[in-house]
Amino acid sequence: MKILVINAGSSSIKYQLIDMTTELPLSSGIVERIGLEEGTLTHKTFIDGIENKVSETFPIPNHTVGLERVAELLTDKKIGVITDPSEIQAVGHRLVHGGEAFTKTILITNDVKAKVKELFPLAPLHNPANLTGVEVAEKVFSHASQIGVFDTAFHQTMPEVAFRYAIPNEMYEKMGIRKYGFHGTSHKYVSEKANEYLGKKETNIITIHIGNGASIAAVKNGACVDTSMGLGPLNGLIMGTRSGDIDPSIIFYLVEQKGYSIEEVSNVLNKKSGMVGLTGNFDMRDIQKHLLNGDVNAELSYKMYAYRIKQYIGNYTAAMNGLDAIIFTAGIGENDSLVRKLVCENMEFFGIEIDKEKNAARSKDIREINSEAAKTKILVIPTNEELEIARQTFELLK
Ligand code: ADP
Repeated sequence: MKILVINAGSSSIKYQLIDMTTELPLSSGIVERIGLEEGTLTHKTFIDGIENKVSETFPIPNHTVGLERVAELLTDKKIGVITDPSEIQAVGHRLVHGGEAFTKTILITNDVKAKVKELFPLAPLHNPANLTGVEVAEKVFSHASQIGVFDTAFHQTMPEVAFRYAIPNEMYEKMGIRKYGFHGTSHKYVSEKANEYLGKKETNIITIHIGNGASIAAVKNGACVDTSMGLGPLNGLIMGTRSGDIDPSIIFYLVEQKGYSIEEVSNVLNKKSGMVGLTGNFDMRDIQKHLLNGDVNAELSYKMYAYRIKQYIGNYTAAMNGLDAIIFTAGIGENDSLVRKLVCENMEFFGIEIDKEKNAARSKDIREINSEAAKTKILVIPTNEELEIARQTFELLK
């Protein structure tokens, strides 16, 4: 079976066509700058281990035009990886917010689309774009089943004691204000890999997904019991451009005393905070270069970044009353040995002791970087959200 995985944003579509017999991508790519004067499409194919790349620039007024071009490239006589779009039996869509309505991967029907629409207020930036992706895929790949995989679903096992906020009850009951959590597909994928690696299912695991967005989850016996993002993706860890945890009083102070509008505050906390707010850069590779050149802001920001993660490790070890392994994943978790070192420093109390050389080594596979004697495993596990979406899509259709 061949499954197309789609992640539609407001002005972009990321996609991957996966052959489920090998679980390898036949093609992947991204359509960007949809709706602007000139759009771009970067399309890669992988045939017999050989990568080929095509880049195109042309006006892409809407998602339909973008996805139609993707379908043409996938079936192109010369560079195509399939002969007809109908070879794609299913399209797996990354859907961001499933609220409390969706706890599992689901076949997308008109009812499901209506429910996803009802959830627009909870994810105004993501859900409308995701739904556009679904509607366009229904047209372009009309033979395929459309399946929805929600970012929030894995976190739906959190107990009420973890997901409720101490605000008036009716705000939960009538408005649905609670912790939902995101990056669920990644937390699920790497925690399952960790359990396979550890050879047991009864485990207390902390998954640290740190990319541009970042979140951390406590996974007990395979089920999420807590996570750091909340109603939206702003809470928790320090991120590339998002603040993570702050005292809510800051918002009132900015609005009431400093004359900020709500839009300005939202823009500051979502786009101008985190590492970019502290250093002027959001990419850890740039910040690390400055740190190595003696930039004190860069050094402080790295320490703050790691300190926040350490705090959550303490928090979640308490929540689970145990800790077998911590997992580093996503762009920073997989690549940035300095972050891993700072997080694991002075954590012997938790059985966390890093092996310097193993930490510095590079590999695309799962690897263990704790010292021999350490009680807690430290694992680096490359995440693969597209494969997880494809697997869940495949499972549902079996
Ligand atoms: P996204 O949340 O957009 O999926 P990724 O998981 O791809 O993000 O992570 C992107 C981030 O990973 C970059 O902004 C950068 O900070 C970090 N990163 C990628 N490669 C490296 C590296 N070799 N060293 C340090 N940081 C890296």
